[in-house]
Amino acid sequence: MRFPFRALVALIMLGFFTLAAWGAAVAPPVRIGVLAWQGLEEAEIRWSSLMNQLEERLAGRRIELRHFDLAGMAAALRAGELDFVVTNPGHYVFLEAENGVSRIATLVADASTDPAHVVGSAVVVLDERRDITALADLKGRTLAAVSADAFGGYQVMWAELRRLGLDPERGQPRPVLTGFPMSKVVEAVLNGDADAGVLRACLLERLEQEGALRPGQLRVLSPRAGMSPCRVSSRLYPGWAFAAAQPTSPALSRDVLVALLSLSPDAAGQSWSVPADYHPVHELLQELQIGPYAFLRETAWPSLWERYWPWVCGLVVMLLAWGAYTLHVEHLVQRRTRELTQAMEARQRLEAQVHEGQQQMDHLSRLSILGELSGTLAHELNQPLAAIGNYARSLLRRQDSGRLEPTALRQAAEEIASESERAAGVLGGIRAFARKRDRVREAHDPAALVREASRLFAGMLQGVPGVMFRQGDEVAGLQVWVDPLQVQQVLLNLFKNAWDAQQAVGCDLPIEVSLSRDGERCSVAVRDYGPGLPPELQARLFEAFFTTKPEGLGLGLSICKTIIEAHGGGIAAAAADPGPGLAIRFTLPLVDGAASVSRESS
Ligand code: ADP
Repeated sequence: MRFPFRALVALIMLGFFTLAAWGAAVAPPVRIGVLAWQGLEEAEIRWSSLMNQLEERLAGRRIELRHFDLAGMAAALRAGELDFVVTNPGHYVFLEAENGVSRIATLVADASTDPAHVVGSAVVVLDERRDITALADLKGRTLAAVSADAFGGYQVMWAELRRLGLDPERGQPRPVLTGFPMSKVVEAVLNGDADAGVLRACLLERLEQEGALRPGQLRVLSPRAGMSPCRVSSRLYPGWAFAAAQPTSPALSRDVLVALLSLSPDAAGQSWSVPADYHPVHELLQELQIGPYAFLRETAWPSLWERYWPWVCGLVVMLLAWGAYTLHVEHLVQRRTRELTQAMEARQRLEAQVHEGQQQMDHLSRLSILGELSGTLAHELNQPLAAIGNYARSLLRRQDSGRLEPTALRQAAEEIASESERAAGVLGGIRAFARKRDRVREAHDPAALVREASRLFAGMLQGVPGVMFRQGDEVAGLQVWVDPLQVQQVLLNLFKNAWDAQQAVGCDLPIEVSLSRDGERCSVAVRDYGPGLPPELQARLFEAFFTTKPEGLGLGLSICKTIIEAHGGGIAAAAADPGPGLAIRFTLPLVDGAASVSRESS
């Protein structure tokens, strides 16, 4: 049986169309979520014609329209249930940041509108309210608005008021939230439930046009001249956004965009335009610290305080405790410093007194030596005075007898001068020895000091034994760093004691003095041939007021010890070896460098 050709073609075409219809039917629907800010019914009415037109232009692809509130739309996007969303500018910015949607078109009032300047707000009051003429007058009033989440219905105006120093969040003005539809805001103002109300741009004009409001019944506060055809109190922001979800394919986005741009304006005259720049919306939300910028509130002081106040209180308590402790320590330190200063001053005063006493004792000791020696001083002075007298009388006699020759005259005059110099020398030495003076440190030849003391000793006392002086080779050329008069004082004391000791046993052997080197010091030993001292008394020899002599003071050796120790040396007594007699040995520092003179007040 032959199958007719025409019937075959018809069958093929039928199959083709059936397949195409089936294909369209089985292709997944384009899922579009819209923000139902005025309720489901309103949204259905508003968007259904758009969806129908879109379906027509998308080659028969089915459109699935779903309505959401703010949170619901974000949840649906997270669950991957939507291909596109249509929402207000504020919410779009939030979804862009949180869910990665990206705008493909912006809704404009009519084709001529700039898509970046569509949404704005008007604050209206009853015309007769003459007490409210500008936005700044809203301080202390009530302000009706649909919802705190409404972009054009609240947030835009909230930002404007903040820029004027007012903040509805702090009750300046106090918001009265009416809920949708926005006509409830108008009612609140008309009824006097609120002093003013926030309407999105152009609603007032529409209501007037529809006759719901008498023109001029409501007045717009602080109207701005600008790009909007309607009266507004705020800046203008981009319109609603049509945005693709992140997983939506670019091909589908392109198809939908082409379809949107080709649509004719809807009943309200609104149409879709190229996507606007939503930066101003970002800035506004950032300023209000809401939407994607709500985290900024976390770092604001009040929220920080709320979260961390126990820590802050703890820290403050610790700081206060630390401050109190520091003050306490500071107080203690000051008190201790005061006490130490006072103790130091007392000690300095005491030292000065001791010093003064020592100086007095020094001086008295020298005077006492002089006192003891003064009996024989007359003898020493007598000799030169007698010689001077003799020469003078001899000159007179020769003069009288006419035998005065110039040579003899000259010789006598020279002798007189020399004897008077000798007498003056004796007196000068005694005066220097006796006077109160500054203590000095000078470099001196120790041998010269010993010789000078021996000479003074011999000149002051009658019948004293000589002083035999020996020095080791190692001392030759060395110098000691001393006060020469004080060293002489020590030597004279030791010579005098040695002589006293020898007198006691009737010995007139010379007193022996020897110099040797003892490390960095020069050692001077004075020995006699007297009775010596038992070891137990040797230890007490340098104590003040220790004496075995009926007329003795017991100060001489104690002063010697003080002087030698002030030079940095030491003094000790021992039985002379070989005996009999006592040997007293003291040390003096050697000069280690320049022989300069240092003076210090004694
Ligand atoms: P004073 O000579 O006034 O007694 P000193 O301090 O000079 O005071 O001497 C104290 C004592 O030390 C003397 O009284 C004496 O007993 C003893 N003394 C000092 N030098 C000698 C000495 N070379 N030999 C024996 N005894 C001495």
